[in-house]
Amino acid sequence: MEHLNVSQISHSFGDQPVLKDISFSLDHGEFVSVLGPSGSGKSTLFSLVGGLLQPHSGDILLEGESIVGKSGSISYTPQTPSLFPWRTILGNVLLGQEISGEKNSEKALEMLERAGLSSYEHAYPHELSGGMKQRVSFIRSVLSPQSLILLDEPFSALDEFTRTDMQKWLLSMWEEHQRSILFVTHNIEEALFLSDRIIILSPRPATVQKEIRVPFSRPRDEELLLTEDFLE
Ligand code: ADP
Ligand code: MG
Repeated sequence: MEHLNVSQISHSFGDQPVLKDISFSLDHGEFVSVLGPSGSGKSTLFSLVGGLLQPHSGDILLEGESIVGKSGSISYTPQTPSLFPWRTILGNVLLGQEISGEKNSEKALEMLERAGLSSYEHAYPHELSGGMKQRVSFIRSVLSPQSLILLDEPFSALDEFTRTDMQKWLLSMWEEHQRSILFVTHNIEEALFLSDRIIILSPRPATVQKEIRVPFSRPRDEELLLTEDFLE
């Protein structure tokens, strides 16, 4: 059975249609990117799948069960990161794990260090820049126990070096933990580097214009091995 099945969902804001009959699915362990012009409805689509909005029609199935309007069964990082202002950065990162009762602060600290945030472990969200908050939100998502992760342009505010490192780290987490990932980007190179499959949305009201299976074997596996050797 597919991990996620989005079936003919449509959504409007007022009388403005944003998404029209969107259908696609995600297999277990697949990495799928959603590409589309700015304003086409990518973030709206993710809010629907993440359960923060309810579609006007259509269904969203997680392992065969409808999750329309239900948040919590999927790990969702919105485009604008929302961190809890009263929790420290480490506290924010560990939140998803605390809910499931499996705390792994070692991994969290390792990731914060890799993201250049080790000196912010005890800081509070208001002390961080937008790009830093985005990284914290991303780390929280990837360390949470849910097997399906939605990431809405998680790397858009990052400089080139940090972005490349975060991309590689995401791929290593994905491979190690057998997650399924649905990823929004407007960067075609990023989508090609990361994904098994790319879904392209048309301009608003968005429909699925095209689905592409990334046809070549990416150099990422070799690059990952090099990174691991380097880190040891
Ligand atoms: P993308 O993420 O692809 O840039 P969005 O999903 O953020 O696109 O937005 C799609 C369209 O829906 C845009 O025209 C945007 O202005 C509109 N929109 C998004 N959220 C709302 C909202 N809460 N209320 C009204 N219009 C919205
Ligand atoms: Mg968006």
